[in-house]
Amino acid sequence: MDKTRPLGLFGGTFDPIHLGHIIPISAAADICDIDHVALIPNFLPSHKQAANSSPEHRLAMLERVCADYPLFHTETWELKQQALSYSFYTLEMLRKRHPQRSLCFFIGSDSLHTLPSWHRWQELLGLCHFVVCQREPTKPDKQSEQQKQHVTALLAQHQITEPQALHKKLAGCIYLANTVPFNVSSTWIRAELAQGRVPDNMLPKAVSAYILEHKLYQSNAII
Ligand code: ATP
Repeated sequence: MDKTRPLGLFGGTFDPIHLGHIIPISAAADICDIDHVALIPNFLPSHKQAANSSPEHRLAMLERVCADYPLFHTETWELKQQALSYSFYTLEMLRKRHPQRSLCFFIGSDSLHTLPSWHRWQELLGLCHFVVCQREPTKPDKQSEQQKQHVTALLAQHQITEPQALHKKLAGCIYLANTVPFNVSSTWIRAELAQGRVPDNMLPKAVSAYILEHKLYQSNAII
């Protein structure tokens, strides 16, 4: 890995990881000329209910994805903290580890809308860039009027239109990547699996095989 090139970061619950994660982020990484993206599974999400599958299963599925998609590797720091996961602390740790490297945090556009609810959100752009992939809303938009105003102000100050800027600065830019929306969520996949249907067209092959082998998501119980 060339440590002078930008490092992509992609955090989530990944319960399970699906093609809506992999395809838009791969496309955005390509547009931005980023060749390494760390998948960062959270231990306990700070903004939603606990995961349905154990950290071990969620990580095992990510490792299968990394074996098939060389763009990705796993970063298990949040799992090792065994506490609520806040991106701020993960980014602070990664900034210390990579003081001279551009850090590009990939998120879906739904996450950009709620960014002003993240812990210490005003400090995040001091630590990383954000690369935003298009995502059509899967749930009612939870963005408040105040959050809308904050996001508009963030974009006015930080949005860039040329992705090369992500290589020139270490942090501080927001790039809205023109990726094709891939409409799926882990919630929908879990609901399909709980009904006995395997949505193969929305999951990497190795992940559906893992889910079937370990009988994951067959009910709402935490496994
Ligand atoms: P859940 O349905 O359990 O809430 P999810 O499918 O939204 O899960 P997460 O693991 O919570 O997935 O998402 C992590 C990140 O992936 C977030 O930045 C989210 O915006 C992004 N993301 C998830 N699904 C998509 C998608 N289909 N297209 C683009 N971005 C996505």
